[in-house]
Amino acid sequence: MPDPIRYSCQTIDEEDVAAVAEVLRSDFLTQGPATRRFEQAVADYVGTGHGVAVSNGTAALHLLAQALGLGPGKLLWTSPNSFVASANAGRYLGADVDFVDIDPATGSIDPDALEARLAAGGRKPDLLIAVHFAGHSLGFERIAELCEAHGIPLVEDAAHALGASYADRPDMKIGAHPKSRAATFSFHPLKSITTAEGGMIVTGDAALAAELAMLRSHGVTKDPALLERADEGAFYYEQQALGFNYRISDLQAALGTSQMARIDDFMEARRARARRYRDLLADLPLDLPPATDASSWHLYVVRLDPARTDVTRRAVFDALRADRIEAHVHYIPIHTQPYYRDLGFAAGDFPQAELYYERCLSLPIYPRMTDAEQDRVVAALAAALGR
Ligand SMILES: *Cc1c(COP(=O)(O)O)cnc(C)c1O
Repeated sequence: MPDPIRYSCQTIDEEDVAAVAEVLRSDFLTQGPATRRFEQAVADYVGTGHGVAVSNGTAALHLLAQALGLGPGKLLWTSPNSFVASANAGRYLGADVDFVDIDPATGSIDPDALEARLAAGGRKPDLLIAVHFAGHSLGFERIAELCEAHGIPLVEDAAHALGASYADRPDMKIGAHPKSRAATFSFHPLKSITTAEGGMIVTGDAALAAELAMLRSHGVTKDPALLERADEGAFYYEQQALGFNYRISDLQAALGTSQMARIDDFMEARRARARRYRDLLADLPLDLPPATDASSWHLYVVRLDPARTDVTRRAVFDALRADRIEAHVHYIPIHTQPYYRDLGFAAGDFPQAELYYERCLSLPIYPRMTDAEQDRVVAALAAALGR
């Protein structure tokens, strides 16, 4: 039996292990200097002012949606082709959630669909969460312009996109766009860098960052400048909002800072794999993802082209699994999940996302992938497609 090839896996080295061990021997396991260093490392890399580290990417979305005023009677729009967390961020706060259909060429919200929805009138969203699917950002510039023109606050779920640049602004890292209020990252093991579990919001807005930092810690502050009453001693604190315990630990933050030192190597390795897939898959009956070096290539998603093959995605997926190649599928459209159906959504609501789901397959891609592993994936895929 050949070794399994997972669709993604983390890259941990001895320096990462040493960085975590150093925190274990220090005075602070949480809320210490390692968290501040990690926030600074990510904000500096992205090229924006502030980073607020939290316990995971979902918490980052939840806090950001709360800080930007989502709540009962408010409306969130996001992409149906995403992980459920992108939409759940609104539901946690009692807001209504709706979706904008995708462009199958990018997997992200279709700017034409957004423009048509806005031109049709009706209820406008109070927040739009754009998702940089797979780490691509094609189309985002127009989404940002439309949101600005219609006065819609815009943020980015950049869980896939740490290390990517904007397709239309190659000198700007994702997370630094002037028309976006903030962006969120996830440090789950399969994302660009990992802290095991972890997330961060980056923003150029100092007041927003301060509010997020307070919400991350129960809505409590000890900052003398913010206290509403005279302090009653050095112990004194005030809870000024309903926050959470969404902190990251210093062990995780130290791992994250250590990983950030190698992010450019991770990105180069992923981009080289994507370029090589493009060459190796050219003759198969597949629609390939966009040819872009701006992407972080979190996922390499091919789509079966029904005009060129009768083989189903299910058959290809099962054939790869039989060869111990653990391809994956991103994503089951959020609005078709039972929870969202119960809210009134139905199959057919967002046809491009549904068609995408029927045909898509995420091939293995990760920094440590070897040529031999990639060749095995391509050979198994070709065999499954009868080529
Ligand atoms: C991974 C992911 C999240 C959630 O991140 P966690 O750290 O797992 O909570 C949110 N949105 C997208 C698009 C993701 O891929």
